[in-house]
Amino acid sequence: MSNWPTWLPLVPRLRELSPYGAPQVPAEATLNTNENPYSLSPELSSAIASRIESVAGDLNRYPDRDAVALRESLARFVNRQASLVGDLAITDKNIWAANGSNEIIQSLFLAFGGGGAIGFTPSYSMHPLIARVTGCTWRDGMRRPDFSLDIARAKSEILEAQPTLTFITSPNNPTGSTLSISEIKELADITPGLLVVDEAYAEFSDEQSAISLMGSYPNVVVIRTMSKAFSFAGVRLGYLVANPLVIDALLLVRLPYHLSSLTQAAAEVALDHSDELLKNVQRIKINREQVRKDLEGLGLTVAPSQANFLLFSGFDIPAPILWQKLLDAGVLIRDVGLSGQLRVTIGSEAENKFFLERLTAALQ
Ligand code: PMP
Repeated sequence: MSNWPTWLPLVPRLRELSPYGAPQVPAEATLNTNENPYSLSPELSSAIASRIESVAGDLNRYPDRDAVALRESLARFVNRQASLVGDLAITDKNIWAANGSNEIIQSLFLAFGGGGAIGFTPSYSMHPLIARVTGCTWRDGMRRPDFSLDIARAKSEILEAQPTLTFITSPNNPTGSTLSISEIKELADITPGLLVVDEAYAEFSDEQSAISLMGSYPNVVVIRTMSKAFSFAGVRLGYLVANPLVIDALLLVRLPYHLSSLTQAAAEVALDHSDELLKNVQRIKINREQVRKDLEGLGLTVAPSQANFLLFSGFDIPAPILWQKLLDAGVLIRDVGLSGQLRVTIGSEAENKFFLERLTAALQ
């Protein structure tokens, strides 16, 4: 919006921006924000409810400002995944937690964005938006026409820009493509400042996590979230795995008591049940491959994806029109603003079937 009234002292850099706005409209199948379609079991819901009840008696007090117990739980969880850490021992000093990984991203910009940031488009749209909101300069790096990242070119763009923050997203949103650990190392070797690896969808991927680089690359920081694989989007819990000095610096920009006692308690209970919560990840990966086959069966082209969504193209009507036709038929997917492409989140088996039926009809 650019026609703000003059009496409103909006800071100039915000005048041209639009708020983040993935449509929140009722639909029979909601497949637009990469949520996990499976809700918590009744047992886990009651465990969370009873823990919240016990915390409720202390709600007159501020929460633990440093969320130490939660960060210890997150460190234990990360260490249990040997494939992530190998021989490394992550402690609470390597972990920061916040209200969704978006808050982590904002804190990174506030603390470290002074020298500008670079990312490689198309990628997560909030990286450049949060950069602008926090007053940091942002440079859009290039991808190949098939959206894969040309590492040699990325390296030269990073060296030219000399940013203090370099963002990569693996698996990438909205394409689903991943970078190998050796490609991430190549970038980490030359990146000035910090290399931020956004791994919001890492649990759905077979690639090695950049958390495994933590011991040898203090400049690599890894963002994760409980919003996707953990079925916990409503709680708002994201976390960062990083060198302890990075976390010390984030303490300078976090708001006092930013993470409520209720959030901390719910997340701690969820982490005690992480095996149960993550058991649907395999199911979603299998369903992803089924949906891919079905889309290809309709003559569509599907980008390789290691996430819980697919980007597809090859339809001959404009993407916004197909998106609207699907919404009118009860299916909400995502128009990510890429010409000729739409993104669909992998839903439950029933939702996927419904989506494919409605898509088949919409393409007639
Ligand atoms: N990073 C990426 C790549 C995402 O796609 C998202 C959510 N769509 C986020 C971070 C933010 O997730 P949350 O704030 O729910 O943790």
